[in-house]
Amino acid sequence: MGELRYFAAGKSLGLETERCVGCGRCVEVCPHAVFAVDGGKARIAERGRCMECGACARNCPVGVISVTAGVGCAAAVIGGFFNGGVPTCGCGCGDDDPRCC
Ligand code: SF4
Ligand code: SF4
Repeated sequence: MGELRYFAAGKSLGLETERCVGCGRCVEVCPHAVFAVDGGKARIAERGRCMECGACARNCPVGVISVTAGVGCAAAVIGGFFNGGVPTCGCGCGDDDPRCC
């Protein structure tokens, strides 16, 4: 299977680089390798892979990552599973994009 990328992904993901202490927790916990740490600072290396799960923001010790968890494809897939419906993230692609939920 090819690399997973999410339609309109990671829109809510933010990083306040100046206050990052370079601990690497975001790299450790992100299931999609969105972050990289170079020269003691994190950077968003692959925004398109972000599924807005929120793990990075919950684990950053200095709170410099922001993300609106519970939106996007991750929420759609979970919601579809529990509600028994077709997953939809509301991105507006109308099922035309095979990379979407
Ligand atoms: S929200 Fe989840 S997928 Fe997105 S960067 Fe953070 S840990 Fe990775
Ligand atoms: S978890 Fe936070 S402090 Fe640690 S490298 Fe990532 S952004 Fe920087």
